[in-house]
Amino acid sequence: MSSKLSGNLRKTLLRVLASLAAVLTVPGIGVCALYDPRRDSSVYFSVSDSEKRVALSFDDGPLEGKTDKILDVLEKYGVKATFFMVGSQARYCPETATRVVEAGHEIGNHTNNHKSLAGLSESELDEEIALAEEAIFDVCGYIPSLFRPPEGVCTEKISNAAKLRGYSIIMWSVDTLDWQGKSARVIADNVLANTKPGSVILMHDGIFAKSHTAEALDIIIPALIAEGYTFVTVGELIADRIGE
Ligand SMILES: [Zn+2]
Repeated sequence: MSSKLSGNLRKTLLRVLASLAAVLTVPGIGVCALYDPRRDSSVYFSVSDSEKRVALSFDDGPLEGKTDKILDVLEKYGVKATFFMVGSQARYCPETATRVVEAGHEIGNHTNNHKSLAGLSESELDEEIALAEEAIFDVCGYIPSLFRPPEGVCTEKISNAAKLRGYSIIMWSVDTLDWQGKSARVIADNVLANTKPGSVILMHDGIFAKSHTAEALDIIIPALIAEGYTFVTVGELIADRIGE
C-alpha cells in the first residue's frame, strides 16, 4: 500500500517536472518568455576568434580633453577603436567628435541623453536612439550601426527598439571599471588578466571625474601586442561572427 502510494507520488512528481521542463523550453510559453540578452543573436558580448583580435570601446563621450588624451594614445600605437557616443555630448563637443571620426575610429550610438532606458515607452526609446543618430550624423557625417544601451541594461524592449533601427547591440566581456577612478595599473592588470581572443573591452572617455583611462591604455596596448593580440573595431570583430 505504502509502496503503491509512493509510486503514484513519484509519477505525479515526474509529470510535474516534465510539464515544467516543457514550459521552460517551448518558445513563447510561461517562464521562457523571460528575455536573456545572451541568447539574442543581435546582442554581442564577445565573439569566438581564432586570430587573437580584441576591440577597445569607449563610452559616454565625446568629452574635450579626456577623449583627446585617449585619441593621442591610440594614435601612438596605430590602434583603431569604437566610441559609443552620447548624442547630446557630440553636439556639446563637436570638434572632439569630429576628431574621433577623422582619426578613422568607429562610432556607435549610446543614446541621446544617457537616460536609464528600462522605464521608457517604445516611442521614448525610439526617440533616444533616433536623436543620437541624428546628432552623430549632423556633427560627424557618420551613420552608426552599433548600439550600446546605457548602464549595461538590455531588456527585450530595448533590444527590439535598437533592432528596428537596424542596429547590432554591443555589450562587453571585459569591464575596466575605469569610471571608478581606479589607477592605471589596476585598470591595466584587470584587462590583462581577463582579455581573451574576441573580447570587447569597456572603457570610458566621457568621465567628468578624475580618471586614468588614457594612462592605462598606454600600458594595455603594448602589453597585449606583445602577447600577439591585434586591435580591431567592434564592427570588424563581429563581422561574420557568432555572438557568445
Ligand atoms: Zn554609458
